Amino acid sequence: MKIILAAPRGFCAGVNMAVDSLELTLQKFGAPVYVYHEIVHNKYVVNTFSSKGAVFVNTIEEIPENSVVLFSAHGVSPAIREQARARNLNALDATCPLVTKVHLEAIKYAKGGYTIILIGHEGHDEVIGTMGEAPEAIVLVEDEAGVAALEVADETKLAYLTQTTLSVDDANRIINKLRERFPNIESPPKADICYATQNRQEAVRVLSDQANVVVVLGSQNSSNSQRLRELAADEHKQAYLVDGPENLDVNAFSETDTVLVTAGASAPESVVQATIDWLVERFGATVEVASIREESVQFPLPKPLRAFAAESR
Ligand code: SF4
Repeated sequence: MKIILAAPRGFCAGVNMAVDSLELTLQKFGAPVYVYHEIVHNKYVVNTFSSKGAVFVNTIEEIPENSVVLFSAHGVSPAIREQARARNLNALDATCPLVTKVHLEAIKYAKGGYTIILIGHEGHDEVIGTMGEAPEAIVLVEDEAGVAALEVADETKLAYLTQTTLSVDDANRIINKLRERFPNIESPPKADICYATQNRQEAVRVLSDQANVVVVLGSQNSSNSQRLRELAADEHKQAYLVDGPENLDVNAFSETDTVLVTAGASAPESVVQATIDWLVERFGATVEVASIREESVQFPLPKPLRAFAAESR
C-alpha cells in the first residue's frame, strides 16, 4: 500500500485561533468555560475540551448568569450577543475573521437596501449567524433549484454572499445560475469561500488522480470535510469521511491500494497520524507527502486573551 498524504490539510488559521482561544480561556478563567455551539465541528476536539471543563451549549439560556462564554469559530448573530449581555456573561469571541468578513458584507448590503442571496446550507451554525445580521434582507439558497424558485422585489438591488466552506464547484454552478437570472447581481470583490476550503479541495482534486481510495479525517457535521469526501466521490474514488481510524473497516482496504489521506479544516493532525499508523501496521503502507501549496495564514487571538497569552509564553 502507498499513502499519499495531502498538503495542505487539517487545521486552518481560524480553527487554530479558536482552539488556542478555548485553551487560553480555560487557563485564564478556570473551568467551567461555556462555549456557544461546538468550538469547531470536530468530535475529537470537542471531547478533548469537554474533559478539560468546557461546556458546549446550544442556547444562551443554558449558561448561568455571570459565567464566561466563548463564541465558536462559526460566528453568532447580534441577537445571541444581546442575549449574552442580558445574562451578564463575560463573552469572548473566537469567530474566524473570514466569517466576520461575510457578516460585514451582509450588514453593508442590507444597509444599502439590497436583498442578499446567501448561498449555504440551512441550519449550519455559520449560516444561522450570518442570516441573523439582517434577517429581513437575507434569503438562503441551497442549490440551483433554489435560484429558479427565487422571488425578488427589486432586481436592481441584489447581491449574493456564500458560506465560507462550500464546494467551490457547487457554489460556482449556483452563482452562474444567479447571474443568468439576475445579470446585475452584485458580489463582494473577494470570494467568501475561504482560502483553507479552496486549498483542501484543490489538493483532493489534483492528488486523487494518483489514488484509488481517499480517506478524509473529519466529523460528519463538518461542512468542509463533507465537501472533500464528495469531491473524491465525484472523482470516482472510494471515499471515506471518518473521525479517526476506529471508524475504518479493515476489509475496505488492500495491500495494492494507493490511499490519499487528507483532513478537513477542523480535524487535528493527531488523528491523521493515528490513521496513517493504522494503515502502516495493517498493510505495510509507505507514506509520501504531496504538497500543492504552502499556507502561512495566521489570525490574532481575541483581544481579551492577547496579554494573557503573551504572559503565559
Ligand atoms: Fe475560517 Fe475558513 Fe477555517 Fe472556517 S474553514 S474557520 S472560514 S479559515
